[in-house]
Amino acid sequence: MKGKFVQIAALCLSAALLLAAGGEKASAAPVPSAVSERIMRVGLHYGTGAMEGVNLLNEKGSGYRFGYYDASNRFVELGSTSQTAISAVETVNVWYGTYDKYTSYHTAITSAVAVGEYHLELPGTYQTFAEAQGMASLYQGGFAAYIGGMFYVRIGNYTTRDGAVAAQSALAAQGVYTELRGTSGFGVSVVTTGTSNILFQYDDLGSGTGLGIEPISVNGEKCATLSKDCLYNGGFRFERINGGKMTVVNIVELEDYVKGVVANEMSDSWPIEALKAQAVAAWSYALSLGSKHGSHHFDVCFDVDCQAYYGREKAGANSDGAVDQTAGQVALYNGQTAQTFYYSSNGGASQSVSVVWGSNQALYPYLAEVADPYEASLNLNNSWTRTVTSTEIISKVLREYAVSGPIVSAEVSSYTNAGNPWMFTFTDSAGKKFSVRSGRVYQGLGLPSCRFGFAGSGGNSQPTPPAAPSGSVSINGSTPVSGTAGLYAMDGNGNLTALGGDVYVITDSGTSLLGQGGGSDQGQGSSQWASSDAVVNGSITFAGRGWGHNIGMSQFGAKAMAEQGHTYQQILQFYYTGITVGYM
Ligand SMILES: [Zn+2]
Repeated sequence: MKGKFVQIAALCLSAALLLAAGGEKASAAPVPSAVSERIMRVGLHYGTGAMEGVNLLNEKGSGYRFGYYDASNRFVELGSTSQTAISAVETVNVWYGTYDKYTSYHTAITSAVAVGEYHLELPGTYQTFAEAQGMASLYQGGFAAYIGGMFYVRIGNYTTRDGAVAAQSALAAQGVYTELRGTSGFGVSVVTTGTSNILFQYDDLGSGTGLGIEPISVNGEKCATLSKDCLYNGGFRFERINGGKMTVVNIVELEDYVKGVVANEMSDSWPIEALKAQAVAAWSYALSLGSKHGSHHFDVCFDVDCQAYYGREKAGANSDGAVDQTAGQVALYNGQTAQTFYYSSNGGASQSVSVVWGSNQALYPYLAEVADPYEASLNLNNSWTRTVTSTEIISKVLREYAVSGPIVSAEVSSYTNAGNPWMFTFTDSAGKKFSVRSGRVYQGLGLPSCRFGFAGSGGNSQPTPPAAPSGSVSINGSTPVSGTAGLYAMDGNGNLTALGGDVYVITDSGTSLLGQGGGSDQGQGSSQWASSDAVVNGSITFAGRGWGHNIGMSQFGAKAMAEQGHTYQQILQFYYTGITVGYM
């Protein structure tokens, strides 16, 4: 017989047990330099969102420095300006009028400022920005340009070649010889916002460094730059990848990035332990990243695709404090930083990564299904229904299958231990059946969460959801327990192991089977939806609970746990099976 015998004395409710474990203070280890010195490259505008022009406003400082970021993301300064309101524009004809609205490619906005793509260039090169700037200042509209690693002096900007030629003739009449220059397709000009006054021009000629701009601080106070209604710490990189519009990246200290994420992912008013759990999840996620956005030359995007980040937007004392108090702490599994996915609400149980995304579960054992008894205390209105047509199911879920005709019926053909749908079976008009993972249905149809069934009573067979565990016992004479969900055994070193497999308890009256098979009991509510549904007028209506992919930590669940007195370590260990919280 496979199974574990657990002495009743060693078996505790997770709450009681984890509260004891929570008594330990997090060790005050110094923040590792890998964390304190880490720089994040956060993509703000890229791909189809790449920009023709961007305004920057230094809120506290005294101007900006120009340069580039080296391979270690260290800023290399080339020059500076005392202007606190500057704009970076690509070096094609750019027109801009109202706040942060730019157009290029000869589509002029009425009564807009034009920054032209033609310039005049003095002969020779210069060693430094100061030298070039000194010479440029002798000419109306002169500016220093750094092109392919050398400084040049350029004069004026013209939207037409004819305009530039006329200006060239005028200079020649004064005895000043210049060359007419266009631009390479990789250049970026910096102007004083609202004017066509070029302060600096940078062109990496496609080498990929991009223009770097950093705010200048006063008295060492951390600068914050306002751009497109968001306030950002750190600097910015503007790169015209493949000669396109500007990819805009915020180059920011990891700590400031995490503060931005926590402030945007959770309300500052939520309990501090929930905010700290969110902070550790954000630290971990940032430090365990692969090269998801490597093709756009940054680490993470600003969107929920990675983690929501809008700079200092919404940052408050609590969210900043949660990041400070957990500086550099991550979720560890086998000594490695865990990929701590999280989402808004699971509706009663999280879902394993293999079911949702088809990932190899063995690589992410901590992203396992967890029945969640906490969220319910918040009485969230997180129910949803979604009606989709047979055509949509065929094109979005069954694309790779040889479907003969319309889908005539659908059912949940198996459930996970926590009552999440596992496999769906769709039947076409020819009677052919197609079984797919629930995660494919969730992803393909863009459903709000991965915990769902069907609305209504349905018209087909009704598979029986998993049977409840056979045993129910009372621990310490109080709370009745059935199933092993949320139960842990503690070893001699105080380490917790989630109970799984067949678990027995020894009671006064003998041995009782507590849980079977995967270790967690049926979650609340697998029976709250029909397990099959007739197709009505060519459509099927799905019903479910929760918001998000359901992998890892529920943010609302973390709030509920914190309100019930759990620590951030307990919250993280509940949602990420088998992890510890510590330093990488
Ligand atoms: Zn992303």
